[in-house]
Amino acid sequence: MIDLIGPRPELNNFKSYSPLKENAQVILSANESPFNLPESLIDEIKEELDKFSFNRYPDALADGLRKEIAAAYGVLDKNIILGNGSDELIQYLLLAYGGSDRSIFTFGPTFSMYDIIAGATGAQVYELERTELFDINVPRALEAAKDFKPSLIFLCNPNNPTGNILSNEEIESFLKGTNALVVVDEAYAEFSNQTVVHLIDKFPNLIVLRTFSKAFSLAGLRIGYMFASLDVVQNVLKVKLPYNCDAFSQMVAALAFSKREVLEVRVKEIIAERKRVFGELEKMSGVTPYSSAANFILIKTEKEAFSVWRKLLEAGILVRDFGEPRLREYLRVTVGTKEENDLFLKTLKGIVNAG
Ligand code: PMP
Repeated sequence: MIDLIGPRPELNNFKSYSPLKENAQVILSANESPFNLPESLIDEIKEELDKFSFNRYPDALADGLRKEIAAAYGVLDKNIILGNGSDELIQYLLLAYGGSDRSIFTFGPTFSMYDIIAGATGAQVYELERTELFDINVPRALEAAKDFKPSLIFLCNPNNPTGNILSNEEIESFLKGTNALVVVDEAYAEFSNQTVVHLIDKFPNLIVLRTFSKAFSLAGLRIGYMFASLDVVQNVLKVKLPYNCDAFSQMVAALAFSKREVLEVRVKEIIAERKRVFGELEKMSGVTPYSSAANFILIKTEKEAFSVWRKLLEAGILVRDFGEPRLREYLRVTVGTKEENDLFLKTLKGIVNAG
């Protein structure tokens, strides 16, 4: 037997990410869109396939798509990098700006990939716990940033899994109060009607992350994008793989982006449903919903959250429960179609009311 070499010591206590795979009729666990692409768009994709060059490498910078995005947001295409999901862009940021003598600053509970990817590059993670209502205490955060001297500060806005949102003024105080790069993760921005993309030219330390996985119904393909200053873009390009976004995903994302008015109608529908589901949860005894600017709602349960999760699953409904101890009493439910939401509400009511 050979004595097989181990991984880098940083990885010794790491567990690989195991996405939850449960069979359920109603999936409200991953903040995806409940709607597939519209049929008219699928027809256009089929037409494109007739002339599609599967044998050729994709455009390395996804230039067609990034030009469309740049024009829509009034920025230069050079300010944009496309990624294999926004997860990959987080990884690129950590490869470029993280590493073993660097640190990042996060505000938990928040999206777990910041922590996981930082750890994989050997960067240290400083976390300031959110308040009881999951807000960020901005003055305290700015003070702490002076001590920690992080390379990157991650502001998930709206925050996954709590739904909280910082105002643009609060984000500006981070941008002015530190020389760290401030990563504003706007994966759910379409549901909040708020963005800081327009501040890209004003603040060289601002990075904005977006994704096609949520509002654009494209979680099955992997396309995310990043807005940043030319300096940051130059540095991130040093660690980017040449063909990180495949040609098929680029083509579909560009079509979906050019037809975004169709998808905007659905976003409005989800926002209306979020309001309705929140109202119904507020009326329900045994649960407390937290108001959300995203396409999901965090819920505190009086009964043990895991047992509620299991009973929902037995009834064919998958929501998100959390491994981390401070979220033991909480579940997160993605806003689905009206029918899915009705079924969820009715089933949840039955569970929390049962003796
Ligand atoms: N950021 C946040 C806050 C998310 O919730 C997610 C997905 N759950 C992502 C980034 C990653 O999205 P994707 O890689 O699909 O673009």
